[in-house]
Amino acid sequence: MPNPLADALTISKSTDSCKRFAELEDGNVVTYAEFFDGARQIASLITSCGIKPGDRVAVMVEKSIAVLQTYLGSVMSGAAFLPLNPAYTDSEVRFFLQDASPSLFICDPARQDTLSTSAKSEGVRDVLTLDANGSGSLKNRIHYARRDCDPVPRSYDDLAAILYTSGTTGRPKGAMLSHGSLVSNAATLKSLWRFTKSDVLLHALPVHHTHGLFVATNVALMAGCSLLYFQKFDAEKIVRALARATVMMGVPTFYTRLLKREEISKSELSNMRLFISGSAPLRTETHREWERRTGHRILERYGMTEANMIASIPYDGPRKPGTVGIPLPGVQTRICDPETGRIVPEGEIGMLEVRGSGMFSGYWNMPDKTRREHREGGFFMTGDLARVDEDSFLAIEGRAKDLIISGGMNIYPKEVEAVIDDVPGILESAVFAAPHEDFGEGVVAAVVADSEVEVTEREIRDHIAANLAKYKHPKHIAFRKFLPRNSMGKVQKTMLRDEHGTVFASC
Ligand code: AMP
Repeated sequence: MPNPLADALTISKSTDSCKRFAELEDGNVVTYAEFFDGARQIASLITSCGIKPGDRVAVMVEKSIAVLQTYLGSVMSGAAFLPLNPAYTDSEVRFFLQDASPSLFICDPARQDTLSTSAKSEGVRDVLTLDANGSGSLKNRIHYARRDCDPVPRSYDDLAAILYTSGTTGRPKGAMLSHGSLVSNAATLKSLWRFTKSDVLLHALPVHHTHGLFVATNVALMAGCSLLYFQKFDAEKIVRALARATVMMGVPTFYTRLLKREEISKSELSNMRLFISGSAPLRTETHREWERRTGHRILERYGMTEANMIASIPYDGPRKPGTVGIPLPGVQTRICDPETGRIVPEGEIGMLEVRGSGMFSGYWNMPDKTRREHREGGFFMTGDLARVDEDSFLAIEGRAKDLIISGGMNIYPKEVEAVIDDVPGILESAVFAAPHEDFGEGVVAAVVADSEVEVTEREIRDHIAANLAKYKHPKHIAFRKFLPRNSMGKVQKTMLRDEHGTVFASC
């Protein structure tokens, strides 16, 4: 009987079980056979805890191989895997436990005392522990569990996982992902990016997010390739490991941090065949500088928790900086007026809408919200502003909620950011709105300048004046040491708005 996702992720089980699945930072190796055995034991344990197909298994622990085994074990047991960022505070965790009502909760032993109380009061049946080294009550309990149980049958439409979206505004939403959506997306990416079992993927992404879990891990397991598995991104360690990898999947900050290392050069990376970037915009300068130093053009892809991966630069052909390529096979996109839903003329900016085989099945417990975010015909409104360029490549122009309307005029932050970033000595910028008595919203720019170059506000303003219409000019420019980013490298504009949002209060 099939269990589509477990079947796809264990496809290499009978070919070469002694093959290495992952090499850890301490040099220890986990073979495919060991990896699958551990996952099967966790599946047996989950079933023996009385957890039924469709029940949620919430996991909030540091990254380790055991987390991936818990993921696969949950899928094998028919449960829905629900990974949570271990950085969440106790009160944030309470929300997730309340909302998702998991039957099993796995947390770090150091937080067991406080979190067990919340879990019990939210009706969680069992609480287990797991630390970054794989120790904890989960390990103790699986010691005697069976390794030979078959995966619980599931259909393509059945729930395999719930991932909460980062929720920069409002409450987090649990995106429900089915077996079918995860299998089809990973299969597409594996073939598009030409993964084979000879690949060695450098994995330094968090595994509570779609990028590290469903893109990196699912594709690697489906291809039967090996991982160089890092708990987190540490440029010094990653530079050394790249010499033994063939592919790296990263967020843009991986690339900007690596560029600061002298060792990044063509000769050091001669075995690499592919560098992939996603989850946040990759700056054109980063793309160009990476190519200059390494000879590799980064392949950018675009996606989101709800839709899995939506578009990718094709493997062959031009890798145009500033674009995210074309929709994946099986994915349809269109660019619409956010208000009316009408398709905008070619080349114009509008809201990107998407439908296809990788889509989520809705927001957990939020049928109305799910309905509101879809249009007739099943198109999901991504909340991203985009346009299609002259080569039919998609370019992401920012989040719709970041659109600034000043004096009735629409201002796209990315356009202003691109002009500011052009000023010599400016490393990066973020443009956002602050309430303005006259204009409704006023443009504010937060800029980060190279500490070794003196850049004045006047220089920035002169450059903006030469390139942008007056209504797009920032009314305030704030110099900062860095831009606040989350673990996926996304600039946290909400934090910037909180910090600089009252600049016009006295105007
Ligand atoms: P998440 O659900 O956390 O993966 O966030 C998805 C969001 O990240 C998308 O809606 C985009 O706003 C952004 N994003 C993902 N990939 C890219 C990319 N290649 N370029 C620009 N933004 C991206």
